[in-house]
Amino acid sequence: MNAPYSPSSFSARITRQVARFAARRPLPIHPDHAIVSFSFDDFPKSAATLGAPALEQRGWRGTYYASAGLAGTTNHHGEQFDAGDIVDLNARGHEIGCHTFEHVDCAQADVDTVMDSLDRNANALRRMGLSEPLSSFAFPYGEASLEAKRALSSRFASMRGVRAEINRGTGDLNLLRAVALDGGDAGIERAIEAANSLIQAPGWLIYYAHDIQEQPSEWGCTPEQFDRVCHAVEASGARVMTVRDALKSLLEDQT
Ligand SMILES: [Zn+2]
Repeated sequence: MNAPYSPSSFSARITRQVARFAARRPLPIHPDHAIVSFSFDDFPKSAATLGAPALEQRGWRGTYYASAGLAGTTNHHGEQFDAGDIVDLNARGHEIGCHTFEHVDCAQADVDTVMDSLDRNANALRRMGLSEPLSSFAFPYGEASLEAKRALSSRFASMRGVRAEINRGTGDLNLLRAVALDGGDAGIERAIEAANSLIQAPGWLIYYAHDIQEQPSEWGCTPEQFDRVCHAVEASGARVMTVRDALKSLLEDQT
């Protein structure tokens, strides 16, 4: 089991603050009808074996931000995805996104290292059988720097962080906000409240999850907790789309 890495130094906090407010790519988000996207990071096999069917039974699809360097390994989230999961999820209409090859902290690594990791991830996923381009990106640990936001901006249609808010008003396509499906029942209640709030104030709510298992990691949830969130989203009446399709819909609203 690999020990989880935690980017928590003082300089990392400063970088994070600067990155939040700079190098933005504004997206007007005023949907008549709320949108929810479910995403999974890294990603653990359980996100495919338990997460995908829970979405599909409701006619929904999710976005899987893959770090191909983790494929076939086991870490604190449990067993990670393999090539079969990539091909299978893609064939069933889910989106595969990019999360760097080695799960790089993009606020600490230099831009060349990050770009190299993106190329390696794209090549590895292609070798696994993915033919679709990677248009959505999620920053590992949600960590972005000014330089990374600028450098990656032209490469991806959207980039996601982990700031726990709903995207409303003017969003930042270089650092979309996202609500975690973790933190035990208290965390799941916050995620459900976010879905409930869409009824009064439509926006684009992106969830991100990791493992789904009976004994989840600190960053995971149980199948029952995941189901509760799906119920709340159903009750909100929001449209559920992959990140790629949600962005397409929001851009179409503007024309
Ligand atoms: Zn990650």
